Amino acid sequence: MSAITVASCSRCQNAAVIFQRYSGIHLCHRHLEDSIRKRVSKAMRAQLKLPKNARREDGSPQVILVCISGGKDSAVLLDMMVKIIGPRRDIELVAGSVDEGIDGYRAPSMEKAFELAESYGVRVETISYPELDFTTMDSIVELMPSLAANSKDADGMKACSYCGVFRRQGLNELAKRVGANWMALGHNLDDTAQTILMNLQKGEVDRTIRLAPHTWAPIDGLVPRIVPLRWVPEQEIHAYAQGAGLPIFHGDCPHAPGALRQRSRDMIARLEEDVPGSRHGLVHSMDAIRELQVEAKGTHLSTEWASDRMHNCEKCGEATSQPLCQACIMRNWLSEITNDSSQ
Ligand code: SF4
Ligand SMILES: [Zn+2]
Ligand SMILES: [Zn+2]
Repeated sequence: MSAITVASCSRCQNAAVIFQRYSGIHLCHRHLEDSIRKRVSKAMRAQLKLPKNARREDGSPQVILVCISGGKDSAVLLDMMVKIIGPRRDIELVAGSVDEGIDGYRAPSMEKAFELAESYGVRVETISYPELDFTTMDSIVELMPSLAANSKDADGMKACSYCGVFRRQGLNELAKRVGANWMALGHNLDDTAQTILMNLQKGEVDRTIRLAPHTWAPIDGLVPRIVPLRWVPEQEIHAYAQGAGLPIFHGDCPHAPGALRQRSRDMIARLEEDVPGSRHGLVHSMDAIRELQVEAKGTHLSTEWASDRMHNCEKCGEATSQPLCQACIMRNWLSEITNDSSQ
């Protein structure tokens, strides 16, 4: 019987916890941490142009809202940001969490998120969908057939379509509450490649161009998003989170992701399997297209997009590309069916 051999780290003698096929390197926990930290620091330097002293005029620190959910990605995001930015006195990290109202899923995951933030002494702000004048996701799922029957545009909407819009509002509101200058999101390399692929499939290059990182100055209350984990594959995040013993909730949302995301996930995994480095390639290609756009227009694309296409929602004032923002449209749908049922 042959003994199971564990590969050793390419940088030291310790047992490897991960093999990066795209680089041909094995890494132990400590060297995986080093490597993730380097990539995250580099991404942050590219996305966050911080002066030596980032304090505001009144001397208070500038704030980064770190969005956490209890899952592995946001846990690693907070862990890395605390290690990289935490020592700076001119920057304050505040964790933000949105409660979607999903029974058996959100409460235990928020507990993990609180546990993690507390262990770093980072304060957490939360907001729930009902506080934003929506209703819980569990109720939305029950109401979806009535919403679809009442409005043509609501027909075919999935739970995640509502949830995405509500969450965005929740994060914007949290950012306002804490006076955030930036918002950090935990999208990893796989998420980013999947989103790019889905947008390409739908011909929505614009959407990709508007994806975070947003490095322009804040406009109309839109806090720029940064995505420090965008070059770190999901598998490495998972291995690091496990090795570091970060408190993480492992359950899945019962209103589960749509079929398109799942297909895109499978496709990206297959591409990566066939040609290691495909995920990096997709994200680099899209970054290059953004850059070309900037050069072609001779201006800062994001600023141009922001000023040309964006205005304020007629109802709530949020930045939007339509007269009414999607959140207000959804609030209208909800009040229409609630009013109907109370008559
Ligand atoms: S899977 Fe969809 S419904 Fe569930 S939390 Fe995520 S976005 Fe919301
Ligand atoms: Zn090592
Ligand atoms: Zn609105």
